[in-house]
Amino acid sequence: MKYKHRLRDMLSEKLIRIAWYLTNMNLPERRALSYVNFCIHTEVIYEDGTYRALLKFSRDFKELTGKKITVCVSTPICPLVRKGLVDNGLSEKAFSERVSEMARHADVGYHGHYYPEGTTTFDHMRRSDYNKDLVVKQITREMTWFRNIGISPKTYIAGCWFMMKEMVLELERCGIEVDASIRRGKGDTFGGVYLDISRVPQYGRPFILPPSKNIVEIQSIFGPVMAPAIMKGHLSRYMRSDIGSVQSFIFPLHDWDIPRYYRNIWANVRELQRHKDKIAWANVNEMRGMYLNGKIV
Ligand SMILES: [Zn+2]
Repeated sequence: MKYKHRLRDMLSEKLIRIAWYLTNMNLPERRALSYVNFCIHTEVIYEDGTYRALLKFSRDFKELTGKKITVCVSTPICPLVRKGLVDNGLSEKAFSERVSEMARHADVGYHGHYYPEGTTTFDHMRRSDYNKDLVVKQITREMTWFRNIGISPKTYIAGCWFMMKEMVLELERCGIEVDASIRRGKGDTFGGVYLDISRVPQYGRPFILPPSKNIVEIQSIFGPVMAPAIMKGHLSRYMRSDIGSVQSFIFPLHDWDIPRYYRNIWANVRELQRHKDKIAWANVNEMRGMYLNGKIV
């Protein structure tokens, strides 16, 4: 019996030490700042709970950090959103009011999901059944939808990470200036690859997204839905490279992640606020400006 007690004490002491180590683990030493922001793949804000959680997160983030997250929205032009509006009994007008309200607290961008004409199964378009004309037309219509409610999105993030060159060119023509759809060495959800790894700089280094002349690519890293100690472990791997250069990263999340992981996500925001000597929040247009002005090389 006594032996069991001793073993238990010893084990719990070890666990406490591990927990202490993890929560106090520091981010790597750097000679230049790493900038970071959230980019939200927003496609189900016709659900009341998701909309309220995302709005609260945008507000709280702005209040704490003085910066704005980027909320990239799929519009009712997208067949899946249109179905969501019907299923949830929300009018398009009410949906557009939600997007306008969001724009008071966040930078509103565009999130594109594309489906074959007249789809009933909602199988996402991929490289094998890519219909260039249909996709380009949808981009034009969605960007017009935003303009009609007084919003000009500057940031794009691809649904299912699906990207093709005609899309990039149309997005550029419609005023997109930042993209966060590329993840070095990773393909889209269906295994297709837009840019071979040899054409993508290290994570943290922005670049002009080909074949555009104007769209600055800021790569997405990971969604910080885990506990802060684990999040810092992941982030450290990215921050350990290029320690002498300013870096820029995007944390990608789905809108439905926000209510589901609110506590962890918010704990991570607060945790990173404690490390202002190494990491800082920046709006995506600020990251773009820094890159174009040569501060991020
Ligand atoms: Zn999506």
